[in-house]
This record gives sequence, C-alpha cells and structure tokens, in this order.
Amino acid sequence: MSSTRWEITFEGITYRCIRCGFCCSCKYWRIYLPYFDYLKLRENYSHYIEDVKGSYFSKRLKVDKRGCLLLTHDNLCRIQIERGYPYKPTMCKLFPFSFRVKWNGDFLLVIKHYCRGIRIGKCSEEMIKHAIECCEELYLDQLERIRLMGMETSTRCKLDEREYITWEEREEFGRYIFSSINLEELSRRYREVANLNISREIAYIERNIQENREPPERLIVEREIIRYLGELNRREIFRKLPLKNELYRLIEIGMELSRYRDVLKGEGVIDLKLLKN
Ligand code: SF4
Ligand code: SF4
Repeated sequence: MSSTRWEITFEGITYRCIRCGFCCSCKYWRIYLPYFDYLKLRENYSHYIEDVKGSYFSKRLKVDKRGCLLLTHDNLCRIQIERGYPYKPTMCKLFPFSFRVKWNGDFLLVIKHYCRGIRIGKCSEEMIKHAIECCEELYLDQLERIRLMGMETSTRCKLDEREYITWEEREEFGRYIFSSINLEELSRRYREVANLNISREIAYIERNIQENREPPERLIVEREIIRYLGELNRREIFRKLPLKNELYRLIEIGMELSRYRDVLKGEGVIDLKLLKN
C-alpha cells in the first residue's frame, strides 16, 4: 500500500457486483485509458478505442446508445471473458470506488452509491487495497498535482457569512454531529454546534420513516440516513459552503432520502444528482 494518506468515507457500506451492467452504460461518465491500459488493449481492441482531446488521458473507450461497446448482451465484459480480469481497464476495475482530495491534502476513498450492488456491510481490506492501487495506477505521477490542486490553501473556513473557524474544527464538528446514534441526537447536535433548529425537518424525516415500517427497521433507516449524510459531509462539494449552509443542505438531502422506501436506492439517485451538479 502507498505512503499517501487515505481515508475511507463509507464505513458501514459495501457492495457485491450483481452484474447489472449499469457501470458499463457510461451514461454519465466515460472510461478513459491511461497509457499502460492502452498498450495492453491496442492490439486486440483498437477498434473500441478513440482519441480524446482536452483531458488528462488521450484515449478512451467508444460508446453507443447502450454504453460501452465491449459490454456483451448478457452484461459481461468482453475483455474479461476473452483475456481475463487483469486486462480490464483500470477505471473499470476501480468502479464503484473513486477518490477525492480532503481539505488538508489527504485522499478520501469514496464509493459510488449508484452502483446497483451497494448494501449495508463492511468492505473487505482486500477490496480497499485494490481500490487504492487502482487510483494510484490511474494517475501515477499526477497524483501529487491533483492533491495540491484539490487541497485548501487557507487555514480557515466559513462557519456562516460572518464567522470563521479552522478546517480542523470544521472536520471535528462534522464528525461529532454525524456520529449521532439517532435523529433526536442529530437534532440536538445541530443546535449545540451550529445553533440550528432542525426540529421541523427531523419531524418530516421521522414521519416518512415511520410509514409502513416496524420499529427495528425504523432505527436502521434512521442510522443509515445519518451515516450517509456524514459521508457527504466529507466530500469537497459541500465544504465550499459555509458550515451552517452545508448543514442545512445536508438535512434537506436527509428529507429527500427519507422519501425512498429503499433508502440505499435513494442514496444512488442522490449520488447521481450530485455527480451531475
Ligand atoms: S453497477 Fe455495480 S453491481 Fe452493477 S455491474 Fe457495475 S459494479 Fe456490478
Ligand atoms: S471495458 Fe468491460 S468493464 Fe469496462 S465499461 Fe466496457 S464492458 Fe464494462
């Protein structure tokens, strides 16, 4: 494993591939090929590769309406069938994982909730190690440049429009708030840390959760919503907002999530929306 510092943002969530082929649909993303992937594939699969300009990578896989041209009709990868797993493009091997840069330059390993195989559980150490290796293989010497570009240069960030706090404080607040064991505690900690009253929002979430669910399941869903919000709290798109605005935005997402009968499915929909923003 590398000496770069990596943090996992999705404790409590794992995945098992159900071969749905969604990740090969390339609907919202494309499969780019680093040079060593291109070398491996150019002899037998050059027909499926095209040039690309204006990207860090100069090659990518072609797509049609259905997605990657290498996806077979039974949702299998032609490269994997014909050549074996090691030949698959690194970007495909990395899915459903990806990475972000934390405010201090550490890397955050994230999981894409729109993978259809997401479920409650724990990712194995093997899985995590493999995902980090794939990230490093994809970007090689560019990783340091990405790290420097992604980290914050200032020492402080906004609590609201007038007050500032340090990034360390912000991280600590987030960790504290989203380690709440239920919605009641979450509400209390919002008030305690940021002086925000979210009792109406919490009542709304509770109403949705209670509909058609028995108490043990309700608690599981409550915890999952809080866990997911804690995961989002660590992503960089939210840290561009003052902390209080971020916390409001997150509880709005919690409200949206509570409307889904299958909360993990809801996370997938929200993740896709966030990707498009
Ligand atoms: S979206 Fe997830 S479950 Fe579906 S094929 Fe891709 S990795 Fe497997
Ligand atoms: S190369 Fe294989 S795994 Fe990658 S997107 Fe195409 S079909 Fe899917």
